[in-house]
Amino acid sequence: MKINLYNTLTRQKEAFKPIRGNQVGLYTCGPTVYNYAHIGNLRTYIFEDILKRVLVYNGYDVKHIMNITDVGHLTGDRDMGEDKLEAGARREGKTAWEIAEFYTKAFQSDLEKLNILDPTTWCKATDTIPEQIALIQELEEKGFTYRTSDGIYFDTSKFPGYTKLSHQDLDALQEGARVERNPEKRNSTDFALWKFSPEDVRRQMEWESPWGIGFPGWHIECSAMSMTYLGDQLDIHAGGTDHIDVHHTNEIAQSEAATGKRFFNFWMHGAFLIIAGGKKMAKSEGNFLTLDGSFTERGIDPLVYRFAAFLTHYRKPMEYSEEAVAAARNGLAHLRNQVRAIREKSGGRTGTVDTGSKDRFLSEINDDLNMPRAMAAVQEMLKSNLPPADKLATILDFEKVLGLELDRVDDTEGLPPEVLEKVDARNKARADKNWALSDQIRDELQAMGFVVQDTKDGTTVFPS
Ligand code: AMP
Ligand code: ZN
Repeated sequence: MKINLYNTLTRQKEAFKPIRGNQVGLYTCGPTVYNYAHIGNLRTYIFEDILKRVLVYNGYDVKHIMNITDVGHLTGDRDMGEDKLEAGARREGKTAWEIAEFYTKAFQSDLEKLNILDPTTWCKATDTIPEQIALIQELEEKGFTYRTSDGIYFDTSKFPGYTKLSHQDLDALQEGARVERNPEKRNSTDFALWKFSPEDVRRQMEWESPWGIGFPGWHIECSAMSMTYLGDQLDIHAGGTDHIDVHHTNEIAQSEAATGKRFFNFWMHGAFLIIAGGKKMAKSEGNFLTLDGSFTERGIDPLVYRFAAFLTHYRKPMEYSEEAVAAARNGLAHLRNQVRAIREKSGGRTGTVDTGSKDRFLSEINDDLNMPRAMAAVQEMLKSNLPPADKLATILDFEKVLGLELDRVDDTEGLPPEVLEKVDARNKARADKNWALSDQIRDELQAMGFVVQDTKDGTTVFPS
């Protein structure tokens, strides 16, 4: 079936076609590991996980590369400020290497809690310094670079089409030159490829290079790593929308300048998680919530956040609030109870995947990953007249994309045994048409703090 994906390059939905046969090369910009990821960052990784699962569900063989930025990302815009890793090390009294290792592990643990599949290859910026240097040398040979007192810069005026991804007005951008704090830059959009270590400070992370001791700029790592690991299989590159104007724009400029070839066919960007009042969640805003702080440590299943992310299309801002968490919590509990009830009815037997329901589900996910509509399709299937065994087979098939652990829902999981007993008793009472007893048990369950719903497959309950 055809997959349509929104491509930021062309600003429209396009039919996806890999460069080579059935293989897809996917590169997703990874975290800068100087602090915990916030749930805004994690929204972007959930979107990318859905993208990957949808491609796999459609039969593609996906090679997925995710980098770990452990050097070169500076605290300020436009190549100013301190390296975030070195700042993190000072803050915590550890080495930059220790900081990177600690927060890489924390990040990977967050992904696991959210059922986000591991990439085919993890790669660290600090492990590919020679490849980054080689790429800068290539740019130098082709005349795209110049030297200033603090580093080697890419001359963006030499690359036609610099704004093809951002669709920004270049003249307006260059106006920024008036407030430019680095007078040595030729154009305000120029960016550092290599920065020299300051003469008076010994950096923890620094390397020899043809230009002097220093460290790579942030953008060059993603160009070098994607080309090193994917070769010319440059199908899809993804990240958050904040990467469009600078990071991805610069990646395209330096990669295409070096190779003379197109760098990635599809560019996909996830919209921000915002908090009440429309403010974006950001480490620099000091308003960031972690997965553990907002979910795990409060006894809320982190998959509630994954479920919540499905309810807003990835290209629309998602608002985070306690009410939204509560609604997602109920929604996921309800979905699990529906699956539990179906499993009970079918006696745990799985039938065949219903092709009509699958086609409907596919048409939604293949329409630019429309998860809100895919979740509606899931509900339609669960509420349909299909035999329970076929419903079970179908939902377990959808689970390959959803990743909500619906395959682990069994009779005893999640709910306290006394609640499950009452659910069973109520199902029996209703089968016996003993409505008085059924109502009595419903009241008891409600008094225990559960919402009770009658579905065609029996009673389902979830915490109120
Ligand atoms: P960073 O660790 O800052 O490099 O960001 C990691 C990823 O999270 C990038 O793809 C960003 O675009 C993305 N991101 C940053 N802030 C948000 C947010 N509030 N909502 C969604 N994604 C975000
Ligand atoms: Zn990147």
